[in-house]
Amino acid sequence: MQTAINHILSELKGLYPDTEIKSFSYLIIEKLTGFSRTEIIVNKNTLFSDEQHHVIETFIEKLKKNVPIQYILGETEFFGLTFNVNESVLIPRPETEELVEWIRSENNRSADLNILDIGTGSGCIAISLKHEFPNASVHAFDISEQALNTARSNVERNKLDVTFSRTNILNAPKTEQRWDIIVSNPPYVTEQEKSSILPNVLEHEPHLALFVPDNDPLLFYRSIALFAKHHLKPQGKLYFEINRSFGVETVELLTDLGFCNVELRKDISGNDRMVRAVTPNP
Ligand code: GLN
Repeated sequence: MQTAINHILSELKGLYPDTEIKSFSYLIIEKLTGFSRTEIIVNKNTLFSDEQHHVIETFIEKLKKNVPIQYILGETEFFGLTFNVNESVLIPRPETEELVEWIRSENNRSADLNILDIGTGSGCIAISLKHEFPNASVHAFDISEQALNTARSNVERNKLDVTFSRTNILNAPKTEQRWDIIVSNPPYVTEQEKSSILPNVLEHEPHLALFVPDNDPLLFYRSIALFAKHHLKPQGKLYFEINRSFGVETVELLTDLGFCNVELRKDISGNDRMVRAVTPNP
């Protein structure tokens, strides 16, 4: 195993920071052997089969092409759960965990709430909310059938009950249902910001889930807020993850639509990253 680790380190040297390559090599070997990090160190003289060497080579080739390690391994952690990921869904981000934490912290965890996640992708928000709010009924929308299949696989993997429908939120979906909480992390990266995006994101993550036109960066926020205005119960809450450059505009949009208690919060890096708004009593 030590020789395999050294091989990975030397093949990727210069392409990623050394500490990151070291962490990749452990992740790869953990995946390959099912060993923990300590077991790898204890068994460092164990030799790999030809087949295992072959897998390591294919992983190295993918890393050289900037494929994110989460896609290579096919899974990642989010809010204490493990999620299947592939190129049809965004890789769950730590900022989004902060949004889930906000929802967890200010709602009754034993209540039988109705929760909707719009643009669920891997299902990470919806499924972790179901985990944190065991009595809630959680439903999620996505426009992409492939994303929904991934989200469904994550429901199975985590043995939690979340239902899904294929829905384009821009088409004002018709439903009589009313929710207590609506949450969304919609596409919010402008075309103009493309040039500052890292190649691992730009070349491998789904553009459908990332980009919005420069002339209408709040496109999804407007549609979702309008939908939420009519489909949240009185005192129902809307939560958004946002582009750090549009905090003020998002707050204004929500206030103009008649939401109250609109609050903008920063993420751990100090960027405007999430907003919560409440529907008024009738
Ligand atoms: N936070 C993601 C990124 O910076 C974007 C997520 C989104 O568009 N909703 O790549």
